[in-house]
Amino acid sequence: MKPAAFAYEAPGTAAEAVDLLARHGEDAKFLAGGQSLLPLLGLRLAAPTALIDLNGVTELAHHRHTPDELVVGALCRHRDIELDPRVAARSPMIAEAVRHIGHVAIRNRGTVGGSLVHADPSAEWTVLAMLLDATFVILGPSGARTLGAAEFFDGFLATTLEPGELLTEVRFPLASPTTGTAFVELARRHGDFAIASAAAALETDGDGRITSARLAASGAAPAVVRLTAAEEALRGRPVGEAAFAEAADAAVEAAEPTPDLHGDAEYRRRLVGVIVRRALTRAAERIEDNS
Ligand code: FAD
Repeated sequence: MKPAAFAYEAPGTAAEAVDLLARHGEDAKFLAGGQSLLPLLGLRLAAPTALIDLNGVTELAHHRHTPDELVVGALCRHRDIELDPRVAARSPMIAEAVRHIGHVAIRNRGTVGGSLVHADPSAEWTVLAMLLDATFVILGPSGARTLGAAEFFDGFLATTLEPGELLTEVRFPLASPTTGTAFVELARRHGDFAIASAAAALETDGDGRITSARLAASGAAPAVVRLTAAEEALRGRPVGEAAFAEAADAAVEAAEPTPDLHGDAEYRRRLVGVIVRRALTRAAERIEDNS
């Protein structure tokens, strides 16, 4: 099918994009990579009156490291992150996760901002943002504001962005060099959306006891979640299979997965345990590699 008719605008700056959206009213939409929005238009599941095309807003296409963060412009393409050796060196978990997004053609066009605003709970960027508690920088008609990841996401395909607001940048805190991180995903075929995924970040003291544990997952609940019960189960424990098995049990216990065509709730709950154990095991191996 073809989309319904819409007006088209091509701003050159973020401020101009926000102005144009306000001028066209609440039925207008920003267009980034188009990988989620254009299929919806084609199927007429969305029919915006105007598209404000962000592709000429080059000020949003950057990504760079500061001493503490990976700073990613909303228009940065998945592929730019995937192919940057500095990201692989300083944020290996992010590089690992991005390789799972669709196929090369999708990663060439799809943007980090578009993925986070679309807020598909199985998207790799949503899991990373929750794990690292990324900061979202937002520009609206009344100025700029920032939100933490837990405040930004608002359930399935929903965010707390106000009408008329543009996501401009996302800041991902860098893990310390002694932190072991990993991203693990289960999908039927490479490139499919994840059935379940988990990201883990582990720190240990000199005696191999876990001092800090962060875990986030998709497929464990209707939205992306931090696995706080599993994190608690790990703190103070010697790093190793026994602690990981207990953490996986805690994650399974807390999981409230949504049954779908990939499996019923029981099957999906078991998957949560599997991906948590795998992510923790890989993260622990990387602590050893770093030391
Ligand atoms: P668009 O489609 O252009 O926009 C999506 C939504 O976000 C729209 O509502 C738009 O108005 C809004 N928007 C975009 N940018 C902004 C902004 N800066 N501020 C405010 N609102 C904005 N994704 C995954 O994560 N994992 C996968 O495995 C995966 N597989 C895919 C497989 C296929 C076949 C396809 C077609 C897509 C897949 N995707 C996957 C989705 C892909 O990652 C998209 O790039 C992403 O979801 C949307 O990004 P986009 O830049 O294309 O945004």
